[in-house]
Amino acid sequence: MKITVNKTTTPKEKPHMDNLPFGKIFSDHMFVMDYTEGQGWHDARIVPYAPISLAPAAMVFHYAQEIFEGLKAYKGSDGSVRLFRPYKNFERMNLSADRLAIPKVDVDFCVEALKQLVELDRDWIPEQEGASLYIRPFIIATDEFLGVSPSKTYKFFIICSPSGLYYPEGLDPVKIYVEDTYVRTVRGATGFTKTGGNYASSIKAQVIAHERGYSQVLWLDGVEQKYIEEVGSMNIFFKINGEVVTPMLNGSILGGITRMSTIELLKKWGVPVSERRISIQEVYDAYCDGKLEEVFGTGTAAIISPVGELRWEDHVMNINDNKIGEITQRIFDTITGIQTGKLKDEDGWVVTVD
Ligand SMILES: *Cc1c(COP(=O)(O)O)cnc(C)c1O
Repeated sequence: MKITVNKTTTPKEKPHMDNLPFGKIFSDHMFVMDYTEGQGWHDARIVPYAPISLAPAAMVFHYAQEIFEGLKAYKGSDGSVRLFRPYKNFERMNLSADRLAIPKVDVDFCVEALKQLVELDRDWIPEQEGASLYIRPFIIATDEFLGVSPSKTYKFFIICSPSGLYYPEGLDPVKIYVEDTYVRTVRGATGFTKTGGNYASSIKAQVIAHERGYSQVLWLDGVEQKYIEEVGSMNIFFKINGEVVTPMLNGSILGGITRMSTIELLKKWGVPVSERRISIQEVYDAYCDGKLEEVFGTGTAAIISPVGELRWEDHVMNINDNKIGEITQRIFDTITGIQTGKLKDEDGWVVTVD
């Protein structure tokens, strides 16, 4: 499929790249293609970033048939633009598509489209250390129909947002609230997909956690509320007595690409790592025994977030004196080093745009 390009005639003024917020500013262009039943994906195009027009009855507004992805482009000190494992994002998008009864996309084509878009908007990629161009691919159901069934038409977009350092003061340990009232999802539902509905149902718990002084929620399993699942938009890792443990992918946890990369690095380094079921009680017991050494979250937005405090019911766990653990720091340095080209990309994770 050919991609037509309609460049903007009124480029926007670039923001101050020094103090960028996350996800609030958008670049000059976006990628769009349409799906029509019987015809497949068609009319791939890069056009100026602008509002779109949809019927009020468009199905996405009513039954949330939509999926999305998130990845970043980095401009290294060598001027080269790098994407981190972008094929994995579109492969995961197809997993989400399958669950949401949305037509799949061609992974190679999407990476090509993304490269063209990023190349066109390369001046929007911040060069400050830690800053990047956040990329949001998404698909929405567009049929004008109030019935519940799969839409016959869809739109696929890729939009780009120059974004600053997630933690302007450097890696700063976060405080996390273990949610014991609400659940995010259950096995058999859509927890393993990136779909808006998962987030819609999580917002209330997030608000309550904020009010209590915590930045994020740690979700427990939706059936017994005993086993650890993940944080709002991050997977979670615990270093207990020398071993790194993360909940196994069980159908309700999102399979993060940062999670996958972290596990691969730990294995390469010979650090014991296991993906298994882990209960909050086990974590608390390890804490009481002085064996909970490090806790960190993984996700594209912050890459690695050290956790300094976990609150579960009335128990407050202060982890590693609120300092960044050795493994946490090493994973952060390695992944960000590969993303920016400072470290050698030994495993072929990086796709360069030029
Ligand atoms: C996107 C996301 C993650 C992190 O995935 P990455 O591919 O590492 O960015 C974790 N949990 C949820 C719920 C997510 O939506």
